[in-house]
Amino acid sequence: MRAVRLTHWGGPPAVTEVERPAPRGEEVLVRVEAAGLCGSDLHVLAALPGALPYRPPFTLGHEVAGRVAELGPDAVGPRAGERVVVYGPWGCGRCGHCAAGAENYCDRRAALDAVRTGTGAGLGRDGGLADYLLVPSGRLLLPVGDLDPTQAAPLSDAGLTSYHAVAGLRPTLGDTGGDSERGTGGGHSERGTGAGASVAVIGVGGLGHLAVQVLRATTSARVFAVDVREEAITLAHECGAHFGTVVRADTADVLRKRAGDVGVDAVLDFVGTAATLRLGLSVLRAGGELVLVGSGGGELTVRKPGALPPGLRISLPFWGTRPDLERVVALARSGALRVTTERFPLSRASEAIDALRSGAVRGRAVLVPD
Ligand code: NAD
Ligand code: ZN
Ligand code: ZN
Repeated sequence: MRAVRLTHWGGPPAVTEVERPAPRGEEVLVRVEAAGLCGSDLHVLAALPGALPYRPPFTLGHEVAGRVAELGPDAVGPRAGERVVVYGPWGCGRCGHCAAGAENYCDRRAALDAVRTGTGAGLGRDGGLADYLLVPSGRLLLPVGDLDPTQAAPLSDAGLTSYHAVAGLRPTLGDTGGDSERGTGGGHSERGTGAGASVAVIGVGGLGHLAVQVLRATTSARVFAVDVREEAITLAHECGAHFGTVVRADTADVLRKRAGDVGVDAVLDFVGTAATLRLGLSVLRAGGELVLVGSGGGELTVRKPGALPPGLRISLPFWGTRPDLERVVALARSGALRVTTERFPLSRASEAIDALRSGAVRGRAVLVPD
């Protein structure tokens, strides 16, 4: 089968022929129908040796949908032929967090990293930019029904990570109960202004354009979008943003004004560079929350007394939980979430990676085995 592999740090990814794995024990083999390209893939490709706790060679691709092709003798869960999306953060499966479905926060992650087995599909372990993906257990597969695979694949990271990042903000942003399980019916929080709240989304790429939709579907907040690309702002509007602006010298002032001069209740930073952290902090109101998702390498000094907004809360969400993924899939199936995709055949993976790197992708680039 074909696989897009990182063979050595810094090297270009290579489309190579590898042996198709056979599932043993609890493993499940998935025939890949679509795999998304993530901003994180660019970080992996640009990483210097030692920067990440993985050991090449491994197959890239951590956002995967397909059909169950073959089950190991002890596999439980999905049926052969069933359409599934892959829950990508593969934890130990046994610690407290994993037992609760939060393998993204597996307590043994450091230990798993230390033995360099990798922390999930396409991140140290062989991923889904390939014809087939070997998944360690059926617990990591969720049925998606008749959802198109190119829609389903991006839900497992771009959708899931955005959903998880927004979920923590819902009490502050006026939870409208837009999905069945978490909704509390539009309450006001002690810290935020509930229904009158506002949020800035910085970076409207693969993750950001879905975050805008999740915010609209599950909160009553006013959503302001910021990007360096004009077409990303157009996309933000299509996704339901109330206001969008390309970054300029006066962007912080413009956003604060939009937020009634006090500043926004929350910032979702999907870039995470020094520049976006600075912008985010300068538009947050006192008591606001900075949610840092992007891995742009920007650093923040936390000190009291200092220049940070009083009452500031910072969170560093990573990916999402399996129950979150179930809700994301449900939102997509209800039509509340629609991924904007650009499709590339798997054989043209390097072209897709170049397009993502140069800012030429609208929404998510999705690779389809050809
Ligand atoms: P993407 O390339 O699709 O989107 C990034 C967007 O940010 C683009 O629209 C780009 O134009 C915009 N942008 C770049 N510089 C900007 C700036 N200075 N100001 C405003 N906008 C700017 O990438 P993506 O797949 O959406 O991933 C976004 C980030 O999130 C990456 O750093 C990725 O590694 C990270 N990520 C984190 C997690 C997590 O669990 N924490 C999960 C997935 C991705
Ligand atoms: Zn990712
Ligand atoms: Zn665990």
